[in-house]
Amino acid sequence: MSPIQELNEHRNAISIVEDDAGIDRPRAQAAIRELFEALRVDLSSPDLHDTPRRVAAMYEELLTPKDFNPTTFPNDDGYDELVLSKDIPFTSLCAHHALPFSGVAHVGYLPGERILGLSKLARIVHYYSRSLQVQERLTKQVADWLDRELAPRGVGVVIEAEHMCMTIRGVHAAGSKTVTSTMYGLLRERVATRQEFLSLIGTSS
Ligand SMILES: [Zn+2]
Repeated sequence: MSPIQELNEHRNAISIVEDDAGIDRPRAQAAIRELFEALRVDLSSPDLHDTPRRVAAMYEELLTPKDFNPTTFPNDDGYDELVLSKDIPFTSLCAHHALPFSGVAHVGYLPGERILGLSKLARIVHYYSRSLQVQERLTKQVADWLDRELAPRGVGVVIEAEHMCMTIRGVHAAGSKTVTSTMYGLLRERVATRQEFLSLIGTSS
């Protein structure tokens, strides 16, 4: 066992109280164990011994938003064209099956008085991805955040994603994508601006 593994083992052993995020790890692990046992999965084999801990840790990671510094800046140069970050990869968990859905988000805004560091557009997507989500709500939450924090002249968010609950079960619609969009301000009202946004992200939807 490497020193880091040893340290992690030790951490797990002593993490009997809730951590800062309020996550009760021992309880989550016990619940995963209980779930598999109820499903008649035999966890006694050596390769499954650590599975409840790993599954609980995976859910913790996927359900814990990564905080980011949402600093905005005055638009001193008066930039008034679209700012767009396209093909931002993300993965979230669907609210109905807790299975992953993943794809890309295209996030743009038409600056007003304030602008935002470019990397922040991806961070907003990732922040709202880390919960049990519905794609429509994720799209709107990202748009609402920009609208609220920047008071821009327009906001456009388009998300294209493949849902595992549709591809590996149910209708088995492998390869099908769900596209959602939220537009505010001039991106909603002015056809030319909306067309520019859609052609920049390369979708005709
Ligand atoms: Zn689902």
